[in-house]
Amino acid sequence: QKKQRKPCIFLPHLVASLEQVEQSYIMIKPDGVQRGLVGDIISRFEKKGFKLIGLKIFQCPKELAEEHYKDLQSKPFFPKLIEYITSGPVVCMAWEGVGVVASARKLIGATNPLQAEPGTIRGDLAVQTGRNVVHGSDSPENGKREIALWFEEGELVPWTPVQEPWLRE
Ligand code: ADP
Repeated sequence: QKKQRKPCIFLPHLVASLEQVEQSYIMIKPDGVQRGLVGDIISRFEKKGFKLIGLKIFQCPKELAEEHYKDLQSKPFFPKLIEYITSGPVVCMAWEGVGVVASARKLIGATNPLQAEPGTIRGDLAVQTGRNVVHGSDSPENGKREIALWFEEGELVPWTPVQEPWLRE
């Protein structure tokens, strides 16, 4: 028996409401904290229009750094990366918004700061891959995974910014 196919109608006015709110785990690495860049970095995400729902300064234990970067375990730079991330306090942030994951990666810039575009965090504020100041999740799935890894449930705060209607129609 032949299945009845419904006509596929593209409804542009519905697309906006289908846009997914995502969360990204953004972390200011120990060099960013030591160099006094915390305010500048937070400000870029804040001014862009994303919503901060989690924030803390934190001394990362070795096991957590290893879990966070487990996909890079086989890389030759892995031990130095763990040493770097645990070398001083980091600032952990959870940011929320439509398209925040990809947009945050653009605001952060390329992994190698010498190749990062001017105007990006790494392009403006860093010179070496091993001291590239900030981390940002590379997919919405990893955003969720990393926020669950670095934050306790009660540390995340849902809220509605008053500027919301001025950011999105
Ligand atoms: P990104 O942080 O841009 O997503 P990766 O996931 O590839 O980049 O790497 C994670 C982190 O590991 C980088 O931000 C950087 O701190 C470190 N790293 C990556 N490649 C190197 C390298 N070749 N030498 C030293 N550190 C590296």
